Amino acid sequence: MDRIHLQTNRRRELVDITAFVNQAVGASGVEEGLCLVYVPHTTAGVLINEGADPAVGEDILNALGALLPAITFRHREGNADAHVLASLLNSSVVVPIAESALQLGTWQAIFFVELDGPRRREVRVTCLRA
Ligand code: ZN
Repeated sequence: MDRIHLQTNRRRELVDITAFVNQAVGASGVEEGLCLVYVPHTTAGVLINEGADPAVGEDILNALGALLPAITFRHREGNADAHVLASLLNSSVVVPIAESALQLGTWQAIFFVELDGPRRREVRVTCLRA
């Protein structure tokens, strides 16, 4: 397993981690298999979506924020919104590996989703040989 450490800069933010995950795939020596990208946090997530136009990521964050209902949250830490949004996302994604590279679609990128930043964060990458 490999660990990617990152520092987020905003309360809600998408961070493109595709290059770091590809590095981890290369370091693993796995030529054919699966890559598990796992986020061990309760106020963050991971998703795969378009990486070419940054406006897509902004739209995703804005849409997620608009999903929050006007209710009174009971969690006293003050970040209940981040917990709720993180529960709508995934804690992991799996991507095929072939020829020692992630087999993402042309427009796909892997994003760490910060929902309660800025914070120091970690992503765990496990590559399995097929
Ligand atoms: Zn909390």
